[in-house]
Formats: sequence, structure tokens, C-alpha cells
Amino acid sequence: MSADSSTATQTVPVLVPTPSPEPYTYALGEGMQAGPGTIVQVPLGPRQVPGVVWDKESGDAAVDPKKLRPVTAVFDCPPLTGDMRRFIGWVARYTLSAPGMVARMVLRVPAAFEPEPPVPGLQLTDQRPDRMTAARERVLVLAAESSPMAWTRSGLAHAAGVSLSVVDGLTKAGAFEEIALPPQPVVAAPDPAFGAPDLHGEQSQAAAMLTDEVAAHTFSVTLLEGVTGAGKTEVYFEAIAAALAAGRQVLVMLPEIALTQSFIDRFEARFGAPPAPWHSDLPPRTREKVWRQVAEGSVRVVAGARSALFLPFADLGLIVVDEEHDAAYKQEDRVYYNARDMAVVRAKLAHCPAVLVSATPSVETRHNALEGRYRHVRLPRRFADAALPDVALVDMRKSPPARGGFLSPVLLEAMAETLQRGEQSLLFLNRRGYAPLTLCRACGHRFACENCSAWLVEHRFRGQLQCHHCGHHEPVPEACPQCGTFDHLVACGPGIERIAEETLAHFADARVIVLSSDMVGGVKRLRLEMEAIAKGEADIIIGTQLVAKGHNFPLLTLVGVVDADLGLANGDPRAAERTFQLLSQVTGRAGRTGRKSHGLIQTYQPEHPVLKACAEGDLEAFYAAQIAERKRGAMPPFGRLAAIIVSANDRQSAEAHGRALRAAAPASGDIMVLGPAEAPLALVRGRHRFRLLVHGSERADMQAYLRAMIAAAPNPRGSVRVAVDVDPQSFL
Ligand code: ADP
Ligand code: ZN
Repeated sequence: MSADSSTATQTVPVLVPTPSPEPYTYALGEGMQAGPGTIVQVPLGPRQVPGVVWDKESGDAAVDPKKLRPVTAVFDCPPLTGDMRRFIGWVARYTLSAPGMVARMVLRVPAAFEPEPPVPGLQLTDQRPDRMTAARERVLVLAAESSPMAWTRSGLAHAAGVSLSVVDGLTKAGAFEEIALPPQPVVAAPDPAFGAPDLHGEQSQAAAMLTDEVAAHTFSVTLLEGVTGAGKTEVYFEAIAAALAAGRQVLVMLPEIALTQSFIDRFEARFGAPPAPWHSDLPPRTREKVWRQVAEGSVRVVAGARSALFLPFADLGLIVVDEEHDAAYKQEDRVYYNARDMAVVRAKLAHCPAVLVSATPSVETRHNALEGRYRHVRLPRRFADAALPDVALVDMRKSPPARGGFLSPVLLEAMAETLQRGEQSLLFLNRRGYAPLTLCRACGHRFACENCSAWLVEHRFRGQLQCHHCGHHEPVPEACPQCGTFDHLVACGPGIERIAEETLAHFADARVIVLSSDMVGGVKRLRLEMEAIAKGEADIIIGTQLVAKGHNFPLLTLVGVVDADLGLANGDPRAAERTFQLLSQVTGRAGRTGRKSHGLIQTYQPEHPVLKACAEGDLEAFYAAQIAERKRGAMPPFGRLAAIIVSANDRQSAEAHGRALRAAAPASGDIMVLGPAEAPLALVRGRHRFRLLVHGSERADMQAYLRAMIAAAPNPRGSVRVAVDVDPQSFL
């Protein structure tokens, strides 16, 4: 050994945000300390990137010390905990993603890696100025009364109602000394005892079961199931209170940002302070503060979207996944993961309980609960004996809408009665815009997107035809682009704008609000509209699935589903489950405060078992039928699925690579590969798509199989991209 290498440069493996399957090795400069989990900055090619010091593997490959590049900086930031590092590794293995790409989801907020700068503040001294004025007097009295609290310069001036110069003058005169204030907490500490409710019998039993899990300090999964309005939120708030009282952190996951406001208000009423929010719309400063304070442990509760799962909690004591069945938990971009499932893994690695909450659990979760793998806590009744709505199917063949309309006389009559009683109706249709298809009556030309296999949706209010996949839009033309005929374009089928038009034709004086996720004005406007509805400032609400969730509308007593057949029509294996969940949820919006309420479901197939189950409210029969069907087809949870999506700029390359993957599939007794087949959405954003479906038995090692298959296939070349979707939710 040469003298040179015996001075042994210390090296560390660092996970960097790249698709590399392994961490890279870097040299640690003299005096640098960086144990596993430490967040560092390292050179990567010409760039500087953040990375995480990874755990040393035994067979650490020796790197030529001359080629080693040094760690540039060690951030003054709490290191990622061992359970967080194991979580990153786990998600990477399960989803067949590079660990660095999973770590990238944790390291998205680089500004949070440095401690927050202290805020300059002022503290009263014993010295008094020689000259006194009324304004100075006010400042000094206020500061003396609040002592020993320190103030910011502007905070003090504002509170005393004086100008900044008065405060500055006092500081100059020695009445205040300048000190460094600790950074402001992004939210105040929640108080577990603040607004504790009186739970009734079943609720308190359920709450006790959850608080026992929290106290046990070990991993468990509980399904908290109960009809809409049963008080599930009140009950899991008790579990949160228990975790807070034990000094631990809590993550509450919610599927929709639009919901968080009403959730946050409720949380604040219960705990005296809001939870820290986490979603993609947060202002950057708030993001930084939340990330940093979660890592330091000072933020106690986070309410967030699926990405909150990748926050660096210091001491996680509970994870709650509200509306656990919701499809929004699935991310289908870069790392394909289901946040509900990964939340269970996160809880397991953090040795804390997970609580999955739903009125209509996913078939997988409910099966796990019935099999005893998850604890099952149920709240079968609405709070305060509010009755569930009476749900009936409207047979559209027997009660057809007027020509050109989509609302049956039965539904219109119920709406008229509701209006007369001064109550609210909700019409639900999962289609944005005015009409899903526009065609020319003269030549039959249909308006399709040039980048996607999709029709352009007319948005009449904006005067546009729009693609809902890529966002492409064009003005509605006056003449057909194909045959040139004027005034012969017709709208086919309804979107919510068209339903609004029909509604106003029948109820000209009614106050109608149309709600959808793409509304002009965004989330802010949506919240205002939701509040207006809750206050009774609307008679008829028309909306997409957004309105199925969250808000309590006390005056809402009629829910009309415009087209229940819509979700059942596509070939999706989860169509039945989705439809059942959505219709139960949307009809469950009615009658939450005890008024008599109705749900009317318009359909052309009233004999369909899913719709019958909705009308009869027969949850048990529905799940039994679903579970039997999944068992027969060896579908999840009785079998395993993974999709491989191959895309390319041209159809031929995508198909060829799909075939190459298929040819590379190893022979296996319990795994079968289907495809490649052109995807139902064959073209998205100009990319041609082919799909393979890998179907395995319950015990099959899908990940090993997929890895072998991809390794044996040629590397994708040119514009070809391969995405792996383990446990796919979408088959488009
Ligand atoms: P879920 O989450 O099951 O849909 P919620 O927790 O939202 O039900 O409860 C429905 C409504 O009933 C809410 O307005 C809630 O505040 C109220 N509620 C439920 N349980 C209680 C209780 N024990 N005391 C007071 N209000 C309650
Ligand atoms: Zn498009």
C-alpha cells in the first residue's frame, strides 16, 4: 500500500436524484462529518445537486481515489431517519424506480436544508429615553405589559399604532435592544384538549380502539369504516389527540386540495390551531418552513396530499388516510405509486399505526379487514340519527327526458319540490365543459385533438374546444373545417355547462352554481363557492366529482346523478367499484343535518347489479359480489397486476419495443404477460402508446419478474420510454 492511499480519504455513498440504481461514492473533506441520512451537496457532472448520505453496503466497490469528487457541503439539517431511508429503498424496490428518483421526492425543497435565519427582534431594556412623547409612551407601555416577550420592529409599531420611526427612535435611545428571535413556527402547536367533543357510545368505542393503537407505539392498520356523516373525522381526531399527547407527529392524508380548507377549519376548531398544509399549490416560503419544521419535529400535524408521505418526519406516531379508496392517491408520473399503500409501508417502518378511513373502502382494504389482517372499526349510523338519503333509480327508458334534454321528468319534479321547500339540489355529472363531442351535421366531421386520441370538449362559456388530456384548445369555429358549411356544428352529449343551461330553462329564478376543477378562478374561487353553498346562497349546484367530496352542505336534500352509466361503460376492471364508491359518496352528500333527503340516479340499465346495490344501500352484498368476482378472475387482491407502458414519438418504435419486452419475458408458472396492445389512449401529447399487462398469482414475485424482463430486453432507444405501473389503477 502506498503512503498516498494510507492517508485514506474518507468516502461516503450518496444517493443523488438520478436514475442510477446505486448511490455514488464521494470523498469527505477533512473535518466533515456526514453519517447516514445527512443531506449534502455534491457535484454531479457540471452541476451541484443535493443528495443523502446512504447506508454503507458491505461490498462497497473501491473507487479510484483520484477520480473521487468531494462532497461540497454538509447541510445543517436533521438527517433523514433510518425509517425514512428504509422507506425510500422500499418504495424504489416496489415500484421498480431508481432509489435516487424516490429520494428526489424527499429532497424537493433545497431551501429548507439550511436553518431558517433568525428574525431580528427588539426587547425592552431598563433604560428610558430622555424625551417622552405620547407615541413613545404607548410603545413602552405595550412592550412592558407583554414583557418578557420580544417584538419584531414592525409588529411593535403596528400593535402600538405608531410609525416605524417612533420605534427606531426608542431603540436609538437605548430603550430597546436588538436581539435575534427564533424563526416563527409555520403553525401554532395544536392542543389535544382544546375542543374535545362529546362522543356518543359507538363513536367513543371506536375512538378508544384507535387511541389504544396509538398508545401501543407499534405498527397496526385499522380500517375505520362508516357511512357518510357517521363522525369518522371526529373519531380519528381522538387518535390524533392521543398521538399529540404522547408528543409524537401525525400525518393526515387527504385526496383533494380543494377539501383541505374545510378540513383545516374543522381541525382548528378541535385543536385550537391548524395543521401544517402540504400540497403542490403552497407558496414556496410556506413549503420551506413546513419541510424544515417537520424535520425538526416542531410541526406536529401535517394535512396533505399524497406527496406528504415523503416529508422527513422526525417522530411519526400516526398516519391517517382519509377517503382511502380515492383514486387521487395514485400517482402516475415518474414514480408510479399508490400513496394509500405506501402509507401502510411507511407506518410499518416507523412502527406506528395507520388508520384508513372510508365510507366505501377499496375492495382490497375491505378484504384485508374481513380477513383479519387489518383491524376493522365501524360506525354504522349517522351522527344524531340523521337518516341516510332514500336512493332510487330513475329508469330513463320509462321516464325519458324531453327532446334535447338530459333530465328526466322525475328528477325535474323532485328538483321543483326541493326548491319550493327552500332546500338545495345537487346535480352530479362527471363531465366538464358543455359537450364531450362536437360534430358537423353536414359532413359528419368530428373534432378530435391533434396530439391525443380524444375528442375535443366544447367549453361554451369560454368559446373553446379543449382536449382534457394535453390541454390543447382552439376557438369553436363558425364553419366546419372539413366541408366549410356554416352553422351546422352540433354538440353531442352533456357536460355540466349544458346541464346548467337545461336547469335554467326549467328554473329561471333559481340560483345555480356550477362547480368543476377547471373553473376560472381556481381553488380560491372554488372555496368561496363552497362556502356560499354551505350558507344557503345557492338553490341548485351542478358539479363534477369534486362536489362528491368534503364539504357539508346543511341545506342539501336532493342529489341527482345525471348519468350513472357513464363510469360503467369503459372496460376498466375497477369500473364497478369506482361507480359504487362515487355514487354512494355523492348521494351521501344529502341530508347530513337530519332533514329528509333523496338520491335519484338516472340510468338506462336499472337492472345493473352495481346500480341496484347503490339504490338498496347494500354494501355487504356489493362487496361480497366484488370479492367473488375478483377471486374468480384472480384479480387483486387475489392476484397481482403490473402494467408496462411503452411510448414513443412514432407508433412503430413503441410497438417494436413492446414486442421486444414481450419476447424478453421469462417463462413462469404463475406469471403471464398480455400484450403489447395499443393503449385505449393510443396517443397522448403526441406520443404513441402501447401497453403490456403482467398478471401474476397472489404469491408471485412480480418485482423480480419485471426486473428480469426489463433487463433481458434491449435498452429503449431514441424517443422510446418505458414506464412500469405496479398495481395499476388505470388501464387507459
Ligand atoms: P364522517 O367523517 O363520517 O363523514 P363527520 O365526522 O364529518 O362524519 O361528522 C358528520 C357531522 O356530524 C359533522 O358536522 C360533525 O361535526 C358532526 N358530529 C359527529 N359526531 C359528533 C359529536 N360526537 N358531537 C358533535 N358533532 C358531531
Ligand atoms: Zn390532446
